[in-house]
Amino acid sequence: MTRQHPPEISGYKAFQAFTGELLKQNEFTEKFFKKYEIWVFPAINPDGVDLGHWRHNFNGVDLNRDWAYYKQPEIDIITEFIVERAKKNHNRIMLSLDFHSTSQDIYYVYDKSFKSKLKNFSRKWTDIIDQGVYPFKTVLSPEPLGKPYSKTWYYKQFKAESITYEVGDETDRAIIRKKAEIAAVSMMKLLSR
Ligand SMILES: [Zn+2]
Repeated sequence: MTRQHPPEISGYKAFQAFTGELLKQNEFTEKFFKKYEIWVFPAINPDGVDLGHWRHNFNGVDLNRDWAYYKQPEIDIITEFIVERAKKNHNRIMLSLDFHSTSQDIYYVYDKSFKSKLKNFSRKWTDIIDQGVYPFKTVLSPEPLGKPYSKTWYYKQFKAESITYEVGDETDRAIIRKKAEIAAVSMMKLLSR
């Protein structure tokens, strides 16, 4: 998902390239979609985008601080959708990726104290991505669960792996695209093993 924060366009660009790769028909997608579904949320905060807000929704609230309270309609709807659909279809939620932008390329991942369903996924995955765009280097930042981010919710709710994929505001657009394409293909490969 992306666009919780309206002006974070470089993260959105990565999301577009990432999603585009998943929509291609090839050996990776064919194998992957036999086992997995991907649920895509391309605009979590459409009113904020429309209104030109910096971080907030139409209520003046940062949506990525509402994932424990569900006070905002966007988060209430999306969390209910995910929980209900997973229950109905007997899906196991394995991984969440939330695309954002900030001053540099950085992956916010769980620290070692957390046991997600996808053990060691984040380290392996981010290593593969960075090898593909070497010498460009993304910062890996393991952190404890804290604020009511989407990342926190997916772990608490499903013990899912959850990564905030941050892209630098000024990162070269070709690098954003290449990284995201490698990210999509390597995610499919790792999850299909
Ligand atoms: Zn953000």
